[in-house]
Amino acid sequence: MKKKGIGLKVPAPSKVCSDKKCPFHGSIRVRGKIFLGLVISDKMARTVTVTWPGRRYVPKYERYEKRRSKLKAHNPECINARKGDVVLIAETRPLSKTKHFVVVKVLGKESKKEMLKQEALQEQEAVTPDKQKNKPLEEDKTSKKKQEEVKSGER
Ligand SMILES: [Zn+2]
Repeated sequence: MKKKGIGLKVPAPSKVCSDKKCPFHGSIRVRGKIFLGLVISDKMARTVTVTWPGRRYVPKYERYEKRRSKLKAHNPECINARKGDVVLIAETRPLSKTKHFVVVKVLGKESKKEMLKQEALQEQEAVTPDKQKNKPLEEDKTSKKKQEEVKSGER
């Protein structure tokens, strides 16, 4: 088959496959969302489970909780992502009941480090807004104490 771009800035894999559900050598097209994630399972044939972290704000505790997103993605033979790989996945038409994403690139070890850095940064960001919120609260407490002191002094 002819080599073609897939509409993303992703180089075509060096191997060639005969997979119909391959964005490079098959007939599917990618469109929509793109995610960077970690492969946590490669046990299925031509399918991998990809996960990535996120966080959700919990108003009651004024803190963030860790969340994970999990997706199944098609893993063409020419890409052949394995467990532990950081991969770029792109949305496609539904390929099966649970798959509507395809792996378009396996990223190297350096990007793995970068991903871990991003996680660390996200956690730092999650901590800083709490500190900022706590500061004015402390000030309120001290001002109330002062007011109380003033009241007691009047008595
Ligand atoms: Zn292929």
